[in-house]
Amino acid sequence: MKRIFLIQIFLLIALLSMTGCKTGSEEQQSAGEPAKIKIAASFEAVKAITEAVGGEHVEVYSIIPDGTEPHNFEPTAKDLMNLQNADLFVYNGFGLESSWLDKALSSTNEEKKLTVVEASKGADPLLLDEKSDDGKAVTDPHIWLSINGAELEAENIKNALNNADPAHKDDYEKNFQAFKNSLDGLKKEYTAKFADSQRKDFVTGHAAFGYLAKDFGLKQNSVSDALLSGEPSAKKLKELTDYCKENNVTTIFVEDMVSPKVSETLAREVGAKAVEIYTLESLPEGMDYISALKYDLEKIYESLN
Ligand SMILES: [Zn+2]
Repeated sequence: MKRIFLIQIFLLIALLSMTGCKTGSEEQQSAGEPAKIKIAASFEAVKAITEAVGGEHVEVYSIIPDGTEPHNFEPTAKDLMNLQNADLFVYNGFGLESSWLDKALSSTNEEKKLTVVEASKGADPLLLDEKSDDGKAVTDPHIWLSINGAELEAENIKNALNNADPAHKDDYEKNFQAFKNSLDGLKKEYTAKFADSQRKDFVTGHAAFGYLAKDFGLKQNSVSDALLSGEPSAKKLKELTDYCKENNVTTIFVEDMVSPKVSETLAREVGAKAVEIYTLESLPEGMDYISALKYDLEKIYESLN
């Protein structure tokens, strides 16, 4: 009798200590709810869009750590760990992850079927002036940084979630619609504002705003190219300085993950303000995708008047 009592005590202690170690998804499981879908996103922008669509049903990790510049990224084994545990992998495409994508996918456990989602699939590519080593046209990868691009990526992600988790299809459709409505609201508001703007061009440090400019019929000029392939040449800087002076450019935008020094020097040289803008390659503290995009649009709008 005493022995059974001791076993019961032991079991109770074991049970209590196990409860203390439970993760969020395990707790949900024991409450009769299915576990959240584990999603590895390649970087922060794709993570933000996936979270907007997936809502409470998903747990999203970014492979490229927050605050790390995503162009020419090389993942460590630790960075790829989230990929091993994921049900779904969402990447941007258009070449953004090409330096590591194939290697990363071939490293995943073949027995576990990982659903791979190319968020930019079906989008119209914007071709850059740069050519690849074999002479091919290079696509601007920054499709996430635009109204039309984000809507298309959200729709691709929604379709993938509907397939992976049909039980929550209604929620994914609802979340997608809310995200799309917010984007459409921004598009309407800023189409009207930009139509009344005196200027239609702006100058950035990193040429990440090509798709956003296209959404609104604007033009971007930049210190560094879209792929961040090296420092700008003296000739390029001279041209940009002349352009800013001739066109009375009053704002030079700077991005946090790109060296702001050249942009700040340019701003001083031409008597313009240096103003921070976000490429969404990392999300600013306390902002979600929509609020960060709205911030960008407002800053661009202010610079045009
Ligand atoms: Zn970029």
